[in-house]
Amino acid sequence: MPDPLPPHVAALIARRFPDSTEELVVGGVPVGELAERFGTPLFAYDGGILSDAVRSVRDTLPAGWELFYSMKANPAAAFLRFFLGRGCGIEVASAGELRQALDAGCEANEIIFAGPGKTDAELRLAAEAGVGELHLESVGEARRLARIAAGSPLRTRLAVRVNPDAAVQGGAMRMGGRPSPFGVDEERFEDAVDESEAAGLQVDGLHLFTGTQILDADVLLAQYRHGFALARRLADRTGRPVGTVDLGGGWGVPYFPNETPLDLLALADGLSELEADRGADPRLAEARVVLEPGRFLAAEAGVYLTRVTDVKSSRGKTFAVLDGGMHHHLAASGNLGQTIKRNYPLAVVNRLREAADAPAELVGPLCTPLDMLGRAAAVPAPRVGDLVGVFQSGAYARTASPLGFLSHAAPPELWVEAGAARLIRRRGTPADLRDDQIDAPDEPPAAGSTDDAEHDPAV
Ligand SMILES: *Cc1c(COP(=O)(O)O)cnc(C)c1O
Repeated sequence: MPDPLPPHVAALIARRFPDSTEELVVGGVPVGELAERFGTPLFAYDGGILSDAVRSVRDTLPAGWELFYSMKANPAAAFLRFFLGRGCGIEVASAGELRQALDAGCEANEIIFAGPGKTDAELRLAAEAGVGELHLESVGEARRLARIAAGSPLRTRLAVRVNPDAAVQGGAMRMGGRPSPFGVDEERFEDAVDESEAAGLQVDGLHLFTGTQILDADVLLAQYRHGFALARRLADRTGRPVGTVDLGGGWGVPYFPNETPLDLLALADGLSELEADRGADPRLAEARVVLEPGRFLAAEAGVYLTRVTDVKSSRGKTFAVLDGGMHHHLAASGNLGQTIKRNYPLAVVNRLREAADAPAELVGPLCTPLDMLGRAAAVPAPRVGDLVGVFQSGAYARTASPLGFLSHAAPPELWVEAGAARLIRRRGTPADLRDDQIDAPDEPPAAGSTDDAEHDPAV
């Protein structure tokens, strides 16, 4: 029987969900059962796939390189504990993420604090908690940190993040080689190191992260080579060997028909060459080398599951209206910064063996035409009650979505592994939508009201 699914969706299912026949099976449980038991919409994460992802990164990295999980991809505590249990550290980019990492049991020295716009309160929190490493994003940030530390020695190692020149580029979303709020420009990186040290800090690390969703091993290798070159420059400037080289995240996963998985064997080959060069250079030989992927570790494990509520036709097009949409999964709706809106890999997951009918528009329940998960999707003619699964939904999905828009309940999250499903985040409730509000006064606040003074500036 010819496979009725689009080839890239069929390939993804064969690679990650091989037990599926008529119906998608996640972590040993058919999705119909998950929907029945927990209701829709929901996110289901396959624990076995997460294990595979960690293993394949470790098998690709040279021995001794350290793996950090970039938690903005998916901050669920179950994810944090899972990656901690696999010997990973956690990369955070806000006080809120830092607190969640600590709450999940991460040792402070296993945390890297990155990201632009760290407030004084966040810098103080990072210094007091003794996070393992902090990435300086600007000279201004370095000066503020020096003031906050006020001469007392920091337990936190400092690395400077470099925004490289145009030579090393790649990735669907580029963050280097042009004016950027991230890091200090390569052209004046030595000055930034000098100015940070003049302020009383010691810069021992180099951080380079220039793009996400990179599927070309050569592009990653070129960036890493550049990262080591910058680290040598750091050592030459400070006169000390480098403490850390952090090469960022950026490993991609295939979403669209023309995309294929990252070639991990090619990457491993190139990395072992880089590692040999590094080991031979006294400026770098003692450095720890860190990678901090988010997407690659988390994306493939996740499926967003939503049910067809209504099917209608309008001027010749078929619309399936789903109970989930962009408020839960902004990226899949194409509204998270994409210039070309292309469908995430998706399928009618209770009817995997049925041939596609006329293209259907798979839309969410929000009152905006932006709320569309499938444009002209190649699916069997949809029926009310069908389940639509959106793949590659473990990273930058729920957490990167406008959950409050239209006040639908926030979707629950399930951990599914070895035939057992466990709720790791409950569905939102009406109380969640209401309880952070202060009763609206009948009258506007009087002049001299103390409301502003009650604003809690704590992070
Ligand atoms: C977002 C981010 C990452 C993770 O990026 P991926 O492309 O998901 O691997 C790593 N490091 C920093 C500093 C980030 O901001």
